[in-house]
Amino acid sequence: MAFPRGPSWAFPDEKISVRGMEFSVETIEGFGRGSSASIRSKTIRIRIPRRLRREKAAEIRSKFLGWAMRKLEKIDPAQLEPEQRTISFSNGQEILLMGTKLRVSLLVSGGRAYGRIGGGELRLNIPATLPEEMRPKTLHELARKAISLSFHDEVYSLAQEINNNHFHVEFSGISFKDQKTRWGSCSRKTKRISINFRLLFAPPSVLRYVIAHELAHVRHPNHSQRFWEFLSKAVPDHKIQRAWLRKNGHSLGSVATNQVSAGQAMLPNNQAGPDAGSCV
Ligand SMILES: [Zn+2]
Repeated sequence: MAFPRGPSWAFPDEKISVRGMEFSVETIEGFGRGSSASIRSKTIRIRIPRRLRREKAAEIRSKFLGWAMRKLEKIDPAQLEPEQRTISFSNGQEILLMGTKLRVSLLVSGGRAYGRIGGGELRLNIPATLPEEMRPKTLHELARKAISLSFHDEVYSLAQEINNNHFHVEFSGISFKDQKTRWGSCSRKTKRISINFRLLFAPPSVLRYVIAHELAHVRHPNHSQRFWEFLSKAVPDHKIQRAWLRKNGHSLGSVATNQVSAGQAMLPNNQAGPDAGSCV
């Protein structure tokens, strides 16, 4: 009998679904005695010693799968979503805003500049006469205005819902700002809160966290223990949301243009990203 080259067991890669998200499961051979498993982005990798018998290998594999499923049930979905959330203005590009998918439809025509959202599309039109070096900035502005207008009511309702269910503070409205240094702010005088427009590209749980953070500042204009306790009423897992922002915030909503012209253009990416919201 020939000495087997691979392990005596082999498990084909498979896909499993947890909370509507798909994960690949890979089972690989290990040369040591121990077995292990890891979850990295959307792959569960199980390592099993090659010399084990198939029965034993299958038993270990199913134990690790159980472990991974339990772990994934608890993890915030925000941690598992793709980290690159740059808008790329190529025709047909899909962007995700507040969990809604939109297709970018880009037109360079003789008409005037406009941006509009409707029918599942973000339509952007720039005049052919616009100098090339101005296109990225113009597109960013058109997109920002169209997105802010289209999502304002939904974000306002979300803020009202958070406030009515948890805080009951005096609150008069919400606006979007395109800021480099802040995720949000609030005015105790006017009782309005402002949210960085780029948060619309974040996972909904992260947007919800920043809205709640600013609303909580209407009551507690500081980051005291009492502020965090108050905020926890609406967002018990605020630490997870903050960690996501710190890690991924810098890529949110920045604009990459690659098919607008023959050349390639990129708006400078703010590597550091804004700080967590603060109150004025
Ligand atoms: Zn704050």
